[in-house]
Amino acid sequence: VVGEDGEVDFKGNARFSQHLAVSDFTKSKTISQQRQNLPIFSVRDELLQVVRENQVVVIIGETGSGKTTQLTQYLYEYGYTVNGIIGCTQPRRVAAMSVAKRVSEEMETELGDKVGYAIRFEDATGPSTVIKYMTDGVLLRETLKDPDLEKYSIILMDEAHERSLDTDVLFGILKKVVARRRDFKLIVTSATLNGEKFSNFFGGIPIFHIPGRTFRVQICYSKTPCEDYVEAAIKQAMTIHITGAPGDILIFLTGQDEIEATCYALSERMEQLISSTKQPVPKLLILPIYSQLPADLQAKIFQKAEDGARKCIVATNIAETSLTIDGIFYVIDTGYGKMKVYNPRMGMDALQVFPISRASADQRAGRAGRTGPGTCYRLYTKNAYENEMLQSPVPEIQRTNLGNVVLLLKSLKIQNLLDFDFMDPPPQDNILNSMYQLWLLGALNDVGDLMDLGRKMVKFPLDPALAKLLLMGEQLECLNEVLTIVSMLSVPSVFFRPKDREAESDAAREKFFVPESDHLTLLNVYQQWKANEYRGDWCTDHFLQVKGLYKAREVRSQLLDILKTLKIPLTYCGPDWDVVRKTICSAYFHNAAMLKGIGEYVNCRNRMPCNLHPTSALYGLGYTPDYVVYHEAILTTKEYMQCVTAVEPHWLAELGPMFFSV
Ligand code: ADP
Ligand code: MG
Repeated sequence: VVGEDGEVDFKGNARFSQHLAVSDFTKSKTISQQRQNLPIFSVRDELLQVVRENQVVVIIGETGSGKTTQLTQYLYEYGYTVNGIIGCTQPRRVAAMSVAKRVSEEMETELGDKVGYAIRFEDATGPSTVIKYMTDGVLLRETLKDPDLEKYSIILMDEAHERSLDTDVLFGILKKVVARRRDFKLIVTSATLNGEKFSNFFGGIPIFHIPGRTFRVQICYSKTPCEDYVEAAIKQAMTIHITGAPGDILIFLTGQDEIEATCYALSERMEQLISSTKQPVPKLLILPIYSQLPADLQAKIFQKAEDGARKCIVATNIAETSLTIDGIFYVIDTGYGKMKVYNPRMGMDALQVFPISRASADQRAGRAGRTGPGTCYRLYTKNAYENEMLQSPVPEIQRTNLGNVVLLLKSLKIQNLLDFDFMDPPPQDNILNSMYQLWLLGALNDVGDLMDLGRKMVKFPLDPALAKLLLMGEQLECLNEVLTIVSMLSVPSVFFRPKDREAESDAAREKFFVPESDHLTLLNVYQQWKANEYRGDWCTDHFLQVKGLYKAREVRSQLLDILKTLKIPLTYCGPDWDVVRKTICSAYFHNAAMLKGIGEYVNCRNRMPCNLHPTSALYGLGYTPDYVVYHEAILTTKEYMQCVTAVEPHWLAELGPMFFSV
């Protein structure tokens, strides 16, 4: 809580008066001592009592107090896994994985044994799993198969303050489960003080506060609005490193590219410094963290820097509340983050950079006061904090496309979505717009009921359009090819473009280009990889991400399993890929663009300009067909089409008659 003086209030005992004393803290304590040192430990018995006496409770505790890692273990130790398992949902995949790993270490069991996790396309649980961490999306999909969630005796909805789309839908669904199953318990946890809202939603259930133990965080504001927050953040980090007392640094930025660029720039500054001075420069360990970072690199942020070195973690808002990193004494807050919002201009969701809310700013600052008194540098003015920022972020359900949610609720036989028990109902326009898009795809009929296609689409953990693409592959008899494309689109880009070797890697990528399509380029990559026995060294030689391709193969086999359960046989189209392009057109005609001027495209429906992305095969080869469809639009410096395929105009008329005619 930020006080009037702009400082975070001091709570609890100052156990550590010196920074140095703290650095040795984690290293010297055993895991069980560390567990007993967490704020939640002191209220273990009271917690178990309120859970025993109530079917639903809200638990509020600051980030790092031990909610995510300890609560599940307490419940397990108390015996809640005798008649079912304990589920704990997380809005973020990274958190689900990393927390499960940590808890399995604390319980001295293999990950996937007693403690496991499940995220989309990855299930690391087994027959003996009793504590299961998962994304809220995974649990939501489980309700499709098992509406009463019979296998769980208790569910913890963690990070409820994030108000992710799936969490918000789960609230409505779990409320019904609670009413139907007397033997089921629900715990809602939050890192911020909005417990009333959750409590009221469940009819005034008890709110339990875990006493805080945070240290004073001094807040330093920028005197003037900052023009280049990346540069300002780098300068601030260097200043701290050279002149500041020991303690690790955490920088909040908006996304992967920015983070990678910042890490690179920071390491260059360090090199310059080292070569320009004779004095010894202490080491700076620069570590990125964002959701798409491979798991082994993610784990690095928890490792202690070697003696005398300082860690500098460069993060997205993932480090705001989902992950707790000990030893942070300095936070550099740029004041921005990315949010998924529905962009009416583009007619779809896009990640966009936004100023954060005051609640987020306070969370970020709080990261500096976990192990001792810290400092937070806000790269924005006090006036911006007080007068320009929103109090709290707008819940995702009110700002994004609801296609998946509508499909899911419809298959749960919820007829009138406007009547569903939402904590904060989405704007009616949002629901209607999403229903319109599902109607376009052929998932809903004219009166908004689920069609056969829609019923099949919901079986796949995919966005509606991707699910449709797959199912159209069945109809147009190129399912094998389309399955590969869908799998490749479900993993991060497999093209590897290391710094200093850009030209070489671009040339390698160009060799895979299929002139008329980025989708087919992905298919080509995968098929060549397969022809080379799925070899890892082949990937490396061709500047492809080995892990990404393995992941795509894994996704492919999981989707294949679902196809098998639906008794849909694989069909092959052979070397003639025109039918594949037509299939893509059948699922993406709503994202059609036409050539207008030299190399310039406009969206066919709203005439907004949209450009070929420089990484596109079409761009690379300078091929500009009259009509294209694209997988998604992204907004950076301008609107780009991501993953583009040339289509015949008469396909558009045939497949999307509601928009196009010859
Ligand atoms: P909360 O959910 O209340 O924010 P957590 O249960 O996530 O708190 O974290 C409690 C403590 O567990 C952290 O302060 C940290 O010391 C430790 N911890 C959590 N995850 C890890 C990890 N992956 N590696 C090392 N320590 C961890
Ligand atoms: Mg947590």
